[in-house]
Amino acid sequence: MQSVQEFGDNPVEVRETGHYTEEYIPSFVEKWDSLIDWGKRAESEGTFFIDLLRKRGVKSVLDVATGTGFHSVGLLAAGFETVSADGSADMLAMAFENGMARGGHIMRVVQADWRWLNRDVHGEYDAIVCLGNSFTHLFSERDRRKALAEFYAMLKHDGILVLDQRNYDAILDDGYTSKHRYYYCGEDVTVEPEYVDEGLCRMRYEFPDESIYHLNMFPLRKDYTRRLMAEVGFQRIDTYGDFQHTYRGEQPDFFVHVAEKE
Ligand code: SAM
Repeated sequence: MQSVQEFGDNPVEVRETGHYTEEYIPSFVEKWDSLIDWGKRAESEGTFFIDLLRKRGVKSVLDVATGTGFHSVGLLAAGFETVSADGSADMLAMAFENGMARGGHIMRVVQADWRWLNRDVHGEYDAIVCLGNSFTHLFSERDRRKALAEFYAMLKHDGILVLDQRNYDAILDDGYTSKHRYYYCGEDVTVEPEYVDEGLCRMRYEFPDESIYHLNMFPLRKDYTRRLMAEVGFQRIDTYGDFQHTYRGEQPDFFVHVAEKE
């Protein structure tokens, strides 16, 4: 079992879409839930996603970035027919355990990489959710377009894609100011960007046992993500800041894009 993340001699040169499978090693996956703290995260998000989906009459949801299952479990508990996909088998195993432990849900899990989603996941969905700043793992524009096209194809004609991202514009333009209030809520975990340029945001995660992990991410600018969605065919894209519709004034830590197919 791999116990150390492999980034080679020059970690800031690792800018590959497929590298996420080597970053989410089992010992990091085991720690993920202390990083995201389910209770605090549920408090910050409230019923934002559930309300959004219900308002649009959504019944079936494909969670394409299941991770350890935070959103999938919430969706199942709220009564949505939910399929939970992720490219990492270790993440899915943890999600399945969490589903059982938190409400006795038997999750339908599928290991699938977004670039070939239609090959491995079947059916059409009212909504696809890609949350927890996951889309940032794609390093080339070609992969981002391919993934969005795969999402688009798996939606019903009036389906929606809900995709969030960290506010990288703020990180790139003004430096890192996250209040750590959203998503990464584990109090004893320090999360900070160790290196940032227009093509890479390398995040460092330090846990109370002093173990250190990294994730190499592509810093998506908000308008760039919106443009890609439009170019792939989504007709209308609404962007929310930190679970509110307006984001004037203080900069939000995260954006949530809701893209409509019809
Ligand atoms: N949504 C979860 C959350 O909010 O806690 C997990 C977020 S984690 C930052 C990103 C997840 O996306 C990981 O579980 C990773 O395995 C998955 N992922 C990254 N790139 C992927 C790809 N190309 N195909 C499928 N899954 C991918």
